[in-house]
Amino acid sequence: MPDILTCVICKKPIPEHPPGWRGGCDPWPINKTGRCCQKCDDEHVTPARILGVAGYQSFAPQVVADSSGEWAGNGLRFATRAEAEANVANLASRWLLVRETRVVPSKDPVNYRWDSEKGLVQVGE
Ligand SMILES: [Zn+2]
Repeated sequence: MPDILTCVICKKPIPEHPPGWRGGCDPWPINKTGRCCQKCDDEHVTPARILGVAGYQSFAPQVVADSSGEWAGNGLRFATRAEAEANVANLASRWLLVRETRVVPSKDPVNYRWDSEKGLVQVGE
């Protein structure tokens, strides 16, 4: 049996998928090296590739935090809309000044992922 690989995205052991295959998936463009599991391929890598075809690479959280009504962003870029929404919802829950939140597509590369247990995790190299 070959050694069990570790997913470069979720850092968990890569399960056998399809039966007999333990090599995982190509994680590009989330990571340029290593291998990822099928779950991360479905949830992070494939959406990132689809965005790339449209000229976008990521999703950016934005907030309105003052009376100007203007949207302000930070440097966080996520591979999926769901991750960016989870991040901005978390931010709004901790930052009382936030009046509104939204997620917009971005042409910047993905630099973070949102982990439901750990929160913000930096990605890529
Ligand atoms: Zn994974």
